Amino acid sequence: MNLSTSRIQNLILETRIKCPHCQVEQRSTMTSMGRKMAHDCRFCNQTMYAKPGKCCVFCSYGSIKCPASQEKEYALERAKVYS
Ligand SMILES: [Zn+2]
Ligand SMILES: [Zn+2]
Repeated sequence: MNLSTSRIQNLILETRIKCPHCQVEQRSTMTSMGRKMAHDCRFCNQTMYAKPGKCCVFCSYGSIKCPASQEKEYALERAKVYS
């Protein structure tokens, strides 16, 4: 079994991100490439920035965590299973 392939299949890339300025939820597609620290709201055109201490805008305002954080959680789960 190829671990890296199954890991990518498990990652969720569609999220709903809630703008802190206008409170409108909008769907957004995350990329697994790097962390996104700012995102422009489609409705009020203001920029939302990652909250202090959060890894990115998706982890700050999204309905699910970013792919990088999801990977980290899967790694923890796997560590539990195999320990
Ligand atoms: Zn907005
Ligand atoms: Zn994140």
